[in-house]
Order: sequence, then C-alpha cells, then structure tokens
Amino acid sequence: MRIVDLIVRKRNGEALQKEEINTFISAYVEGKIPDYQMAALCMAIYFQGMNTEEVANLTMVMAKSGDFVDLSAIEGIKVDKHSTGGVADTTTLILGPLVAAAGVPVAKMSGRGLGHTGGTIDKLESIPGFKTSLSRVNFIKQVNQIKLALIGQSGNIVPADKMIYSLRDVTGTVPSIPLIASSIMSKKIAAGADKIVLDVKLGSGAFMKSKEEAFELAKTMVKIGKEVGRETVAFVTNMDEPLGTLIGNALEVKEAILTLQGKNRGPLRELCLDLGAYMLSLANQVNEIEEEKITLEKLLDSGAALEKFAEMIAAQGGNREVVNDLSLLPQAKYEWKIKVQKDGYIKSIDAETLGIAAMTLGAGRENKDSVIDLAVGIKVHVRKGEQVHQGQSLLTLYYNKQDKLEAALKIIPQVIQITTTPIESMPLIYGIVN
Ligand code: URA
Repeated sequence: MRIVDLIVRKRNGEALQKEEINTFISAYVEGKIPDYQMAALCMAIYFQGMNTEEVANLTMVMAKSGDFVDLSAIEGIKVDKHSTGGVADTTTLILGPLVAAAGVPVAKMSGRGLGHTGGTIDKLESIPGFKTSLSRVNFIKQVNQIKLALIGQSGNIVPADKMIYSLRDVTGTVPSIPLIASSIMSKKIAAGADKIVLDVKLGSGAFMKSKEEAFELAKTMVKIGKEVGRETVAFVTNMDEPLGTLIGNALEVKEAILTLQGKNRGPLRELCLDLGAYMLSLANQVNEIEEEKITLEKLLDSGAALEKFAEMIAAQGGNREVVNDLSLLPQAKYEWKIKVQKDGYIKSIDAETLGIAAMTLGAGRENKDSVIDLAVGIKVHVRKGEQVHQGQSLLTLYYNKQDKLEAALKIIPQVIQITTTPIESMPLIYGIVN
C-alpha cells in the first residue's frame, strides 16, 4: 500500500481501516513518512472527518505508539483532567493543587501551547528553576509523597501525538473533532488515569465554534473513555471570551496564584470549583457535587491549595517563594494600555484574536522551533456585558520588543466591540456529558 493512496482515499471521503491507520501512524513515528505527507493526511481528516470506528482506531493506535504509564503504585483512584484549549485558561494550575489538597492524587502530564491557546508546561517553565520533566520513578514517588506532580508529556508517552500535535499547530489542522478527540484520549489512556474529566471549550476562543460541534466532540471522547474502561465526564464550557483576565505564560501563573490565594472571584475560580467537584466525586465514588464544591471552596480560602502548589514547586526544583512574591516571575519590560473610546456595554471579546495577539507578542509559537517569551502577554480589564466608560482601561499589553508590539496592535483594533444597549451574559457551563 502506498502512503499517497491512503491520503487520496481520505481526501475523497473514504473510511480508513485499522491496519491502514496503524501503518500510517507507525511509519510516521519511525520517521519513514515525511511531515508533508502527515500534514496532508491531517488536512484530509480536517475536511472529511472520520467515523466513530476510525476515531477509536486512531486513538488506540496513537496511544500504543509509545509506553503506557502504570500508576498502580499510587494509592487511590487517579482522576485526570484535560481542556481542549482556551484563552486565559489556567485551570490546571489551580485544579491540580486544589484537588490534591483534598487528598486525591493528581499525577498529570500536560502539553505546550497549541495554536492561539496556551499550554500548562510552557506556563510552568516561567517559575524559576521548575523542572517539567521527572523520571517515571520520581514522578510516582512525588505523587505518593505530596499527592501532586505536573510534568510534560515524556518522550515515550504517545510520541505520535507529540509529533502530530506540533505539526497540526503550524498547518491549520487543529480544530478537527477526530484529531482533537484522538489526541486527547490517546494521551489520557496512555497516561494511566482511572477516570477523566474533560473541559470542551466552545466559542470564539475555542477550537469548537458551534454548540453542535462541541457536544459532538464531548460525546466522542466520553464514548472512547467508556469503551476502554476509563469513566469519562465532559463539560462543555464558555470560551466566547477569555476565561481569566491574563493571557501569557508567567501572567497565567500569576493569575493561578492569585486564585489560589483566594483573591480572584471570577469565572476562572467558578469553573475550577465545578471541574474539581466532579474530579472529587469520581475519585471518591460519591455523587455529592455540591458538598465536594464546598470542600474545595474551603481549601481555596484557607490557603491549603496554595500551600500544595508551593510544595509541588519546591519538589520539582522551583522557587516556592513565587507564591508569596509574584515579582519573582519573568516580567515584561514595557506596557501598552488601550482605553475605552466611548461609553457603553461590552458586546463581545474575541478571545481567539486576543490569543493570537498574545502569541504575536511572543507568548506562543509561530513554528515548531520558535522560542517563546515567558513574560509577555495581555491583561483583559473587562468582561462581556460589563458597563464601561470612556477612558477606562480595556487591555494592557505587556511586551519586550517594539516590532512585536506593533504587529500585535495591528490585529487588536476589532477585538472588543462596545454597544450602547445592555448585553445578556452567557452561561459559564453549557452542559455536562457523561
Ligand atoms: N488539546 C490536545 O491535547 N490536543 C488537541 O488536539 C487539542 C487540544
């Protein structure tokens, strides 16, 4: 079978057989297929989709492209969480310590930024000294000791996803249901968690722009989870505007710390409490979501979750003092403020364009080998529906290079729309699929 024939068949809308998917992915991982043919297949999948059987086969072939992590040496039910990627979505940095502070082990492998969305591993690298890779033995030891470890996807866990993920990032093939579902579920299956909570983002800042697509993605992943015996719950949540107020790597660590200090009361905190309550309820095998939420609120407000974050930072070689002194995080040299031009109500905030603007400032990658600037990013001072007055701050851009600021300013102008009539706000959670 020639590789080009498989690309052509998928381009023409035919279903690929398990053996064919296996051949393609295995050969790509072994370096026998060039990036351009893999990119072409991704584009064909993007346009033609895949049926349920193909997605399940692709997921398992990808999962088996590397090692499976055995977390059985960690006591208790391990629940993993994964977001499909949003803007100012720093939930993992809050949820990890929060759930661990409640006594549930969190052994989590995270990814880097993709497209206009940020990645947990890039964010963690802005903490001075923090090591995002640990040996398997030390990873498990740390979770047994302090209930929490956050590391990057190691070389041998789903190498297929590692390679395809960065290729998709630079070939416009990220927002595809089969590609996202197989990417996420292959990693969750290989990473060894017993149960999985997913956060499928919907809206202008998400890869899924319609309710229909977001729920289809949620259902696809829940079904794959069930088929492989990993109970999976998927939230569909609002990404029509950034979740938090800060976009960028060190800035998102800062926002996570402020939330763990109990100082942030917005939707980011709310969503963490809801996702966390489901994680606890899956781990504790009880269905008492409201009680679990109260437990988590107490852990946030008492500083216990913040202390857990500091403990993890220290265990992974970082400077735990950042949780008390945010100036230890990388700081951009310059700031540029954008003000409200006329009184009114915030009609829309284009989260995707804001994510792209932050990337343009240097917070994300333009190609596979780009080096990111951990300090730069954007603060969004307003939320959808909020009443605003001329002269008040709308956005602050944190930057290090003038040419990058100029490039970002070119894409910013239409990002926030203001209207004279009051606007209804959207729900934070559209639904939960289980
Ligand atoms: N997150 C992932 O892990 N994979 C995707 O394809 C998209 C978001």
